[in-house]
Amino acid sequence: MLDKLGTSLKDAVKKLAGKTVIDRAAVDELVRDLQRALLQSDVNVKLVMQLSQSIKQRSLEEEPAKGMGVREHVLRIVYQELVRLMGSTTEVTLGPQKILMAGLQGSGKTTTTAKLARYFQRKGLRVGVICADTFRPGAYDQVKTLCDRINVPCFGNPKETDAEKITREGLAAYKQLEVVIIDTQGRHALEDHLIEEIINLNTLSKADHRWLVIDAALGQQASEQARRFHEAIGIDGVIVTKMDGTAKGGGALSAVSETKSGIVFIGSGETIEDLERFDPDGFISRLLG
Ligand code: GDP
Repeated sequence: MLDKLGTSLKDAVKKLAGKTVIDRAAVDELVRDLQRALLQSDVNVKLVMQLSQSIKQRSLEEEPAKGMGVREHVLRIVYQELVRLMGSTTEVTLGPQKILMAGLQGSGKTTTTAKLARYFQRKGLRVGVICADTFRPGAYDQVKTLCDRINVPCFGNPKETDAEKITREGLAAYKQLEVVIIDTQGRHALEDHLIEEIINLNTLSKADHRWLVIDAALGQQASEQARRFHEAIGIDGVIVTKMDGTAKGGGALSAVSETKSGIVFIGSGETIEDLERFDPDGFISRLLG
């Protein structure tokens, strides 16, 4: 994923090779190529404009460091601005914590909940999952089946409709555990009810983290989803799923920017082991070659 973006960015920067002075025309051309590459990858238009504006301004105004060629100077700025766009490197604490999962139905939230349980379990922590999704029929069975496979306890009640009650009871039952992950309902759209409920669950659980699960295939709607969830509960990390597919992934970048957080993990497949930590520096270095 984002391979095409990488190739386009590399090509754009390559055009500056051998130049000894930075002229406006060359920077304009680079920025246009960059814009095209980012827009084709579904990055939000507003973000693309902000990014290209900063790159243009900084490339022309800042003095290249001593001994640095024009290409390296601009490449450094493109790199720094992309890192800023991707968000900060997010720390994952390997200690006691409560994680509240947010995201729309189909994003991969339930699968990711189980993947995270596996991740923390492998780190030697005692993990429990609470299924607070009382909306989707079969939600409890799905997450319970995944948890059973890895011997992680899963608290829930398919007959109960009160998600707050389940969460309260689950937290009480899992007092001895170190990591508790709360899977919540997703619904099909950003309905008021969904937002109200996640606000209540956040208040009730006093979650240490509120991670948003976003499908890499989401384009421009990603910003809107991220904004609504962020306004509601203050998202402090994004998990991008289905990065193994053909998705362009630009929507995820927009989501990260909207929440001013960073990508914590990426989902790279359907099995419980397909979860990877995300490192923005390494990612962009690869992107720029
Ligand atoms: P939820 O409605 O948000 O809880 O979504 P689910 O966890 O049920 O996932 C929806 C579909 O996406 C399922 O078929 C999952 O197997 C699939 N899925 C989730 N994460 C990934 C991923 O990282 N890669 C792939 N290829 N499929 C995924």
